[in-house]
Amino acid sequence: MKFLIVGCGISGITLARKLAENSHQVTVIDAKDHIGGNCFDYFNQEGICVHQYGTHIFHTDNEIAWRFLSRFTQWYPYQHEVKALVDGQLVPIPFNFNTIEQLFPAEMANRLINSLLSEFPFNKKVPILKLRESHSKDLQFLAEYVYEKVFLHYTEKQWGVKPEDLDPLVTGRVPVFIGRDNRYFQAKYQGIPLQGYTAMFEKMLDHQNITVSLNTKFDKNMIKDFDHCYYSGPIDEYFDYELGQLPYRSLRFEFLTFNRPYFQSHSVVNYPNNYDFTRIGEYKYFLDTQCGSTVVSYEYPEVFTLGENERYYPIINCENKCLYQKYLDLAKGSDKLTFLGRLGDYKYYDMDQAVARAIDLLNDSPSA
Ligand SMILES: Cc1cc2nc3c(=O)[nH]c(=O)nc-3n(C[C@H](O)[C@H](O)[C@H](O)COP(=O)(O)OP(=O)(O)OC[C@H]3O[C@@H](n4cnc5c(N)ncnc54)[C@H](O)[C@@H]3O)c2cc1C
Repeated sequence: MKFLIVGCGISGITLARKLAENSHQVTVIDAKDHIGGNCFDYFNQEGICVHQYGTHIFHTDNEIAWRFLSRFTQWYPYQHEVKALVDGQLVPIPFNFNTIEQLFPAEMANRLINSLLSEFPFNKKVPILKLRESHSKDLQFLAEYVYEKVFLHYTEKQWGVKPEDLDPLVTGRVPVFIGRDNRYFQAKYQGIPLQGYTAMFEKMLDHQNITVSLNTKFDKNMIKDFDHCYYSGPIDEYFDYELGQLPYRSLRFEFLTFNRPYFQSHSVVNYPNNYDFTRIGEYKYFLDTQCGSTVVSYEYPEVFTLGENERYYPIINCENKCLYQKYLDLAKGSDKLTFLGRLGDYKYYDMDQAVARAIDLLNDSPSA
């Protein structure tokens, strides 16, 4: 069969490779001038691998997604640790026992840690909103502290709304860790592609049945030349916004290069309070590049405005999920069209989830 895939991000590329290996002819188009979508990276003159759309760390417990991508790359065994500036100190995030000991006097820190251990399992993450529901006075204090110093202002900056107005799935992403593991992720598999994400994608697309056209915006007339179209662009755009726009949060990245070996102590430092930006990423940490300069990006959250900036995070709440569902109902009218990816599904996907979604899609569709 002949397939058109709209979007050459990790979703479209995974699907393209799988279809090509099943002997189908695949054309992948992308409006941008590069492959990889939001995961695109490039090496600068000093050999630092810069992620053009912000820091991307691969982490997963999904064996299938990990094995699939590992066919196309080796991995640098990077374990992600994030620091946040809280009360003038750089402390480990997610908030854990080490963070507590750094911020509070010893006796108080002990009491808080013991209270946490008496209510929650060791080495597990507890969403901040759950901690807030505890009846223990110590834990209520801790919850309020974390809520105020780490969560509230960061969330307001990041999303431009109060936490209560977001889906718990989004707010639940900010946890307290019951233990001493400073790593941001505890997933079984973690790493950064040794030659970068773009090189991994090039290998995935390197198949005789795959043709890639960049700088090519989707046009509905294209569909007639194919048996089926998989669309990983924005679903509302596909339908010319006839039911209204699906809201997104955008980001502005300010990249700076410094002529000194390092800018900060870790690859990512969060600024929950006081600054307009939410975090600073420093790229040479990801592949441990040794050189005399360094590249960082400041991340400023912004309102998404059509035609002016990029869609980054879907703003998931009841109203927006309902609007998305209405678009999906419109799509049911065509059996030649399937939506996927973070823009087509209007979901926040980590990279592994985007890969898993594309693979599952084919498992559910025997002819493909
Ligand atoms: C700042 C940031 C940091 C992130 N960090 C991580 C991380 O550390 N770890 C992690 O696992 N995930 C991370 N993610 C999530 C990751 O970026 C996504 O999982 C991934 O990009 C999803 O890929 P996709 O193919 O679904 O979408 P995209 O990468 O957005 O690809 C969609 C493609 O479709 C193209 N397109 C859209 N409309 C059209 C059209 N009409 N015609 C032609 N082409 C079109 C676009 O140009 C784009 O290239 C992060 C996301 C952001 C925003």
